[in-house]
Amino acid sequence: MEIDFLLIGQGLAGTALGYRLKQAGKKIRILDLPQENKSSRIAAGLYNPVTGRKMVKTWNADVLFPEIGPFYKELEEVTGQKFLLEQAIYRPFVSIEEQNEWMGHSSDPTFAQYLEKIYIHSQSEFIKDPFGGVLLRNSGWLNINVMLEAMGAYFGEDLMEQRFEEQEAIWENDTWNYRGLKVGSIVFCNGLGAMQSRFFGGLPFAPVKGEILEVRQEFCPNYILNRGVFRVHLGDQIHRVGSTYTKHDLDQGPTDSAKNEILDRLTELVKVPVNEVVSHKIGIRPATRDRKPFLGKHPKEESVYIFDGFGAKGVSLIPYYSKMMENHLIGQNPINREVDIARYFNYI
Ligand SMILES: Cc1cc2nc3c(=O)[nH]c(=O)nc-3n(C[C@H](O)[C@H](O)[C@H](O)COP(=O)(O)OP(=O)(O)OC[C@H]3O[C@@H](n4cnc5c(N)ncnc54)[C@H](O)[C@@H]3O)c2cc1C
Repeated sequence: MEIDFLLIGQGLAGTALGYRLKQAGKKIRILDLPQENKSSRIAAGLYNPVTGRKMVKTWNADVLFPEIGPFYKELEEVTGQKFLLEQAIYRPFVSIEEQNEWMGHSSDPTFAQYLEKIYIHSQSEFIKDPFGGVLLRNSGWLNINVMLEAMGAYFGEDLMEQRFEEQEAIWENDTWNYRGLKVGSIVFCNGLGAMQSRFFGGLPFAPVKGEILEVRQEFCPNYILNRGVFRVHLGDQIHRVGSTYTKHDLDQGPTDSAKNEILDRLTELVKVPVNEVVSHKIGIRPATRDRKPFLGKHPKEESVYIFDGFGAKGVSLIPYYSKMMENHLIGQNPINREVDIARYFNYI
């Protein structure tokens, strides 16, 4: 039995790359373990062109965002399922100064594609937005769990629920032998699992824990709300709200302090009371020290690659970078220096 690529992990990263390689006619096998940390299963799935307290354009947005819709829609077509929800994001202004700043942005052509409308007055009696706000477009959310399940069915026998045991991968006769399987290349797409790898454990990962709630609350507009927290309507008055960011307590489960922080921030955004907290989950983001992904080939080992480190923004980064990685794996095209692991070769 021979395959071209053995992918480790079926989160967002392994799924996207596996799809592209399969489409290119390559024989693949994906190994995945549902009980490991799965950032993708917890994530809110938002893609948002303007983020952070200072509302700056997402890093590389102009190259990343044109790839998002076409890529996930292609996966929808292939699987016959719906998981991409294109939706505007409404961000209330916190001050007149911020309102003025955004009036300035409205004439800036680099912002135009992300700006639906600027409001200088409150848009709803249910939102705390006395200075109005900005309605962003080219945004939305991906129902990641539905997408992963649908793609799991698409991969069929190419996907196996099995832990990859690295010590059992043996390099012999110019190929990897993994439990009798002849493998051309191994690609680590296993999020924080790669921190345990002898090949990539030295890379500067910087895991970030996130806690996230689902709450029952009235007021269900047809846009995502975002200020301090985001709030996405899932249906039937259930909203996903979050998330926190911390580099501490990584081993600890859900905490009351994070839950209260999210609920306090939600109170600052929406005037309607929360009727019930339906769920409270945690996940650890596979982030990196310089907040850029890890793509590329191991400097010394033959045919060992990594496609990882997508941190808090997997949904928007992965469509574009999975194409770059495919072109590298199949066509030996170079990887952009800013995401190439070559920037850390003195670590591994
Ligand atoms: C609370 C929270 C909110 C988030 N919100 C957003 C958001 O709104 N938008 C956004 O873009 N991103 C968000 N993220 C980040 C997003 O989850 C990540 O960017 C993305 O999902 C990473 O995908 P991945 O495939 O690289 O990693 P993972 O999803 O972690 O997948 C890695 C997979 O590898 C498997 N694995 C590990 N080791 C092995 C092994 N030895 N053998 C076999 N399998 C193995 C694991 O089981 C797992 O399935 C959020 C994350 C969290 C925690």
